[in-house]
Amino acid sequence: MNYAKIADAYEKIEATTKRLEMTDLLVDLLKNTPVSLIDKVVYLTQGKLYPDFEGIEIGVAEKLAVKALARASGSRESEIEETLKTSGDIGETAQIFISKKKQSTFFQKALTVQRVYETLGKMAKTSGAGAVETKMALLSGLLSDASPKEAKYILRTVTGSLRLGIADMTVLDALAIAYGGGKETREFIERAYNISSDLGKVAKTVAEKGLAGIKSFQVTVFEPIRPMLAERLASSEEILEKLGGKCIAEYKYDGERIQVHKKGKKVILFSRRLEQISDQYPDALELVTTFVAANEAILEGECVAMDIETGEMRPFQELMHRRRKYDIEQAMEQYPVSLFMFDALYVDGKDLTREPYPTRRKALERVIVKNGKVLLAKSITATNVRQLEAFFEEAIENGCEGLMCKAAGKESVYQAGARGWLWIKYKRDYKSEMTDTVDLVVVGAFHGRGKRVGTYGALLLATYNKENDTFETVTKCGTGFTDKDLASFPELLGKHEIPKKHSRVQSTLEADVWFEPAVVLEILGAEITLSPIHTCAVDSIRKGSGLAIRFPRFTGKYRTDKSAEDATSSMEIAEMYRKQLKKISQS
Ligand code: ATP
Repeated sequence: MNYAKIADAYEKIEATTKRLEMTDLLVDLLKNTPVSLIDKVVYLTQGKLYPDFEGIEIGVAEKLAVKALARASGSRESEIEETLKTSGDIGETAQIFISKKKQSTFFQKALTVQRVYETLGKMAKTSGAGAVETKMALLSGLLSDASPKEAKYILRTVTGSLRLGIADMTVLDALAIAYGGGKETREFIERAYNISSDLGKVAKTVAEKGLAGIKSFQVTVFEPIRPMLAERLASSEEILEKLGGKCIAEYKYDGERIQVHKKGKKVILFSRRLEQISDQYPDALELVTTFVAANEAILEGECVAMDIETGEMRPFQELMHRRRKYDIEQAMEQYPVSLFMFDALYVDGKDLTREPYPTRRKALERVIVKNGKVLLAKSITATNVRQLEAFFEEAIENGCEGLMCKAAGKESVYQAGARGWLWIKYKRDYKSEMTDTVDLVVVGAFHGRGKRVGTYGALLLATYNKENDTFETVTKCGTGFTDKDLASFPELLGKHEIPKKHSRVQSTLEADVWFEPAVVLEILGAEITLSPIHTCAVDSIRKGSGLAIRFPRFTGKYRTDKSAEDATSSMEIAEMYRKQLKKISQS
């Protein structure tokens, strides 16, 4: 097949904005493509050589394209650059200069699709020393044999500016018409795409094996499944009603979604956008290798930054440090992660995507070896609003964004690539910052882990309740302490240690060590939330709930000038909470 056929089709596609016309043109092109080339043609029409998840780009900078064009056309670079400046389009510029040359040459070898594809493939895979020169030689070789129109599309393709506007869904429509037997077969073809994310492979399957081939299309390890997405509702009542009065509610972790693919010892992690992100998480790769007890598996979960000393979750932003390639080792140490797994899509030969969620969750439970770092997303089966509300508050307090409420009936399959009502997210519709610091009393402590073995990992902090003359817990804080702070704790706090909880301390949490209320620390938190655990201002905002400070950090200030009774009062925290709400309703 000659590349000229593709270039002609591109030209026509470019001239229309109507989706139906575009589909017809694509159907024509696909029908006229030999089956052996169909995957390549599909990739090329989207300006690619492989499916996105392979992460392979042709990656030619405009400067290099200009150089190759100069060499192939015999024109001066400066001349080409001048034209490029006015047209702003490398494709059109190529067309102009190649047609100038064409007037003076007679011999031309027709470019085949195979040759274009292979040459671009070589360019994409060239790297290291001399790569620029090699790429240029390959590209100018192609351009020398290209017609002006072909040159236009080749240069747009290599510089990543083809942009024909052909969406994935248009290709699926065209495949259904060209090879599936009609537009109504599109749903089967779409499913194949949703479980493989590879349009080329899907095209080849339907072209070679027809609809039957597509219907028996399989989930395959290392081909990412397009993620199932959630709808959103604003209240527990609505959620329960929508899900038929019963759901599996899970913590909605605030991290990065990952799809884990494992076969033997090889593991690949894909992001929500299905990019390979294994390089960012060498530690997560190792966790999967160690704690996923299956030879082959595709699992989904949320990767969350953790505070190793306190075992608490950290905000999503801390994962951003993983994006910088050069100091990943350091990021791994400073921002370690845990994996909270929430789905199993394939395990040892069995495609689970058509199974209801409870079955998938059981498969997930079976496959994860008990350990402290690869965990199951915390969940409950909820049948009433009260349960859901309490679980929601607990999730928020533990550093989560809210809940993911999932259907639990027969219909609850994994809807790859779709946003639907089988999953409903329940987040707060507000978020506000705590701008003021508070002064809190240390009433207990938890033993440290990791680097903090032998000292305290986190302190249990309380507010003062003036009416009852008690101290009410409001947060657990393990952040903001320097090594010097930690070293001083045994002396500073040790002298206040008591064998059991102080009689004036109200706490539902069991600390490892208790103190008499004496030491006051200045704390900055992210926000105040309702809490089913902490006792601060209990019942004052909502019956049965206390208040908690989320993401607390020690500012470095010891308030030695304050006695325990001078600490921020529970009523002040309640007032701050109310103001916070008022601010939200005003904005
Ligand atoms: P969306 O992914 O729905 O387009 P978004 O990117 O803004 O929206 P959110 O609205 O925060 O994300 O919600 C969806 C995300 O929540 C999922 O993609 C997943 O990463 C995350 N998540 C956290 N916990 C869970 C869980 N238990 N089950 C499913 N997803 C979860």
